[in-house]
Amino acid sequence: MKITKLECFIVPPRWCFLKIETDEGITGWGEPVIEGRASTVKAAVEELSDYLIGKDPLRIEDHWNVLYRSGFYRGGPILMSAIAGIDQALWDIKGKFYNAPVYELMGGACRESIRVYSWIGGDRPSDVGAAAKAVVDAGFTAVKMNGTEELQYVDSYEKIDAVVERIAAVREAVGQYVGIGIDFHGRVHKPMAKVLAKELEPYRPMFIEEPVLAENNEALREIANHTHIPIATGERMYSRWDFKQLLSDGYVDIIQPDLSHAGGITECKKIASMAEAYDVAVAFHCPLGPIALASCLQVDATSHNAFIQEQSLGIHYNQGSDLLDYITDKSVFKYEDGHVKIPQGPGLGISVNEEHVRKMAEAGHNWKNPVWRHKDGTVAEW
Ligand SMILES: [Mg+2]
Repeated sequence: MKITKLECFIVPPRWCFLKIETDEGITGWGEPVIEGRASTVKAAVEELSDYLIGKDPLRIEDHWNVLYRSGFYRGGPILMSAIAGIDQALWDIKGKFYNAPVYELMGGACRESIRVYSWIGGDRPSDVGAAAKAVVDAGFTAVKMNGTEELQYVDSYEKIDAVVERIAAVREAVGQYVGIGIDFHGRVHKPMAKVLAKELEPYRPMFIEEPVLAENNEALREIANHTHIPIATGERMYSRWDFKQLLSDGYVDIIQPDLSHAGGITECKKIASMAEAYDVAVAFHCPLGPIALASCLQVDATSHNAFIQEQSLGIHYNQGSDLLDYITDKSVFKYEDGHVKIPQGPGLGISVNEEHVRKMAEAGHNWKNPVWRHKDGTVAEW
């Protein structure tokens, strides 16, 4: 079997899908995207495709190594997202070739389902109490929300109180035991991150996420020494080599590599195993489309330390074009009792609605995250 064609589709709300074709009629789908740079990742996939045309799609480990190691310059969000989407599509082809779900080809499943959480509250969180209640009424046992709007390096306790009020409203609405993940979104700098972590402790969050930007991960040491809340990070880290210092430092509790950003199924399985050796949990990042989510579930199936899965159904970014629109059998992502079952179909276990993909690709998108500024005019982290 030989790879004959790679084709990218920029589709709303902010995604990029990749179809890889073979001379035996088996096709695979991947989702090579980094939010806000979809066209750049598409260009990277097209550049890498020269090597792949004519190659055997089943030799995934070798292709991964060539795509990663054969370039003198490597890593980073663009190249690792391009490799990620290609890797997902190759695993989809391999699974269809052997008529088995991807997880079976990685050693088999160690779980039947995984807990999922739902987003509430949007970019600038408000009315989160009611939103959290609605999500829990729909069966979810965990929610995630942005903790705060933009925060200066050192900011006022008025803003801290506003965050505490929101989290208190959610805790009050959902009761004592629903999991609440609080995403700091890299918006918070070290001085306020430790203040905020301490103030949020009474509400017993499931975790705080990206308390500081990944490039400031050395600050996790001080934050971890200030709080017992589990610390999560990793959506902006792209390979085993990016994660090794974080894991060996020992201040992270949950890592969140993204199956569409960190080298795909092949690399994220390895990152999860590295974390397991440090007794660190995995919660794969996935505010993306159905191909990325299906890829996450395949790796979740085989990862003992995966404990919860992010998914984007109904997330604020997806208005007008959501996760289920692009697949034909929508029952694969049916959530029950706050869990989703591991898909059982061959490959990634989903059937992409190609007609809809092609139609939506005509409209495309040019999604960018907003540029926020502080009151004094300086650029704020979004
Ligand atoms: Mg996040």
